[in-house]
Amino acid sequence: MSGITAKERFIRCLEGKEVDKVPVCSVTQTGVVELMEITGAKWPQAHYDPESMATLAIAGNEVAGLEAVRFPFCTTVIAETLGCTFNEGSIDTQPYQLDFPCKTKEDAEEFLLPDSLADSRRISIMLKAAEIIKNKSQEDIPVIAGMIGPASIAFYLCGAKNYLRWCITEPQLLKRLIKLGTEVCVEYANLLFERGVDAVVIIDSEAGPDLLPPPLFSELVFPEYRSLTANMKGHSILHICGDATDIMDQMADSGFGGLSIEERTDLSYAKSIVSGRACLIGNVSPAATLLSKPADQIKKEAKQCIRDGAGILAPGCGIAPRTPVDNIKAFVASRDEYYQEVSTR
Ligand SMILES: [Zn+2]
Repeated sequence: MSGITAKERFIRCLEGKEVDKVPVCSVTQTGVVELMEITGAKWPQAHYDPESMATLAIAGNEVAGLEAVRFPFCTTVIAETLGCTFNEGSIDTQPYQLDFPCKTKEDAEEFLLPDSLADSRRISIMLKAAEIIKNKSQEDIPVIAGMIGPASIAFYLCGAKNYLRWCITEPQLLKRLIKLGTEVCVEYANLLFERGVDAVVIIDSEAGPDLLPPPLFSELVFPEYRSLTANMKGHSILHICGDATDIMDQMADSGFGGLSIEERTDLSYAKSIVSGRACLIGNVSPAATLLSKPADQIKKEAKQCIRDGAGILAPGCGIAPRTPVDNIKAFVASRDEYYQEVSTR
């Protein structure tokens, strides 16, 4: 298996095939202030300008050493396309939501998707960025695009209060929004695949047990994941924040090649549930570890993740903007050190 490229290795992992060593990358956001300063591609501009977005994303690979180019750096593209409004954030804070379209049941009953996603402002920026990244990044490095998933889309559209209330009182209405979310994800993901993106990450934390009781996950979300993964024409990963243990079994049956989990989900226990059904991705803490601990501690925790069964070594969630690039480099280096230590034991 010598001579395998980082891209081939990454894709083999998502296909459940054997690899020489686990890839080390981030399937969640990679924009850190130090990379913004090195490249001149800074937030908030890098969320809205395809050239800046591509430059900052590529730096995560070429400067920090992560074995993938991952974009964008926020979770607002679909939500803004569907009518939510956002404050654009700053160099070290992500954009945050100001307003949403489905304030009442009637709003949610009547809500319709825009005619052309490809021509909408934010999605056309993403498609352009995908083209630039494919042109400028190294050919043997996988390109990963992130987007929110069906439950998150419903959450953004109707706001937290309605979401939490309607999942109990109006499940069919919430289901309607989740279904529309699936439609958007399929169409948008396929537009990205057409532009050469190797994998999409569906970030759908609002489907997780922290917000949605697992029986409602089975009823409202799981069938949508099956439809989503059946209709996307490329590799896909599901990311759920928080403790996802209670839905891990269904996540493994949902058709995603990779499952990205946070450190609050116990990796070795998740591995025992998922077994060979999907590649587990994670789960070094971005805040408690990558941002704040010394290199030797980062390496120790990262190596433990590989021992615990990570099929792709990655942060448990988005990298914090103030994370030093040297910490990311130490994280990347831990993977090769792990294999050196194993071979000399
Ligand atoms: Zn997360």
